[in-house]
Amino acid sequence: MQLLLKSIDFAARAHRDQRRKGPANEPYINHPIEVARLIAECEPATSQDILCAAILHDVIEDCGATQDEIAICFNPVIAGIVAEVSDDKDLPRPVRKARQIETAPDLSDAAKLVRLADKIANVGAMLTDTPIGWDRAEILRYVDWAEAVVAPCRPVSPALSARFDAIIRDVRVWHLEENQQTGT
Ligand code: ZN
Repeated sequence: MQLLLKSIDFAARAHRDQRRKGPANEPYINHPIEVARLIAECEPATSQDILCAAILHDVIEDCGATQDEIAICFNPVIAGIVAEVSDDKDLPRPVRKARQIETAPDLSDAAKLVRLADKIANVGAMLTDTPIGWDRAEILRYVDWAEAVVAPCRPVSPALSARFDAIIRDVRVWHLEENQQTGT
């Protein structure tokens, strides 16, 4: 429990100046907390190290924290999982997105759990707090891409996999309903 609270404290400080992309302008920390909650709900036997990694999963990519720093503050297992799910921000966005699909099959089971929950949270946000400026086509492209990333991660958690299916179905149904309303 102490290590988990320490990870929340660390991530909250690291993300303190960030907000989610939606109109609700939510503090960024809501996202990693949601990711850890999803894992804990669907896979109650998950180790504390993996839950801490879920809380910390964006601090390397978005806040400039390093794997070494996390290994020292927490432990090398947590740091390794966070590093696995971190994009290299020096690469252009399309390359990073393609890499997530390419590397997903090689992730550890722990990283696959985090990846799966991360995509559930992000696709869910498309419905509840759609990123400002995203049109429907962009949202659907994101959902298709997330589905491709998640495909090799599904076996680590049938429960998370089912949650993912439910949320992408909701987004696609919403899209169809919007189309019917607008006649497009
Ligand atoms: Zn994330």
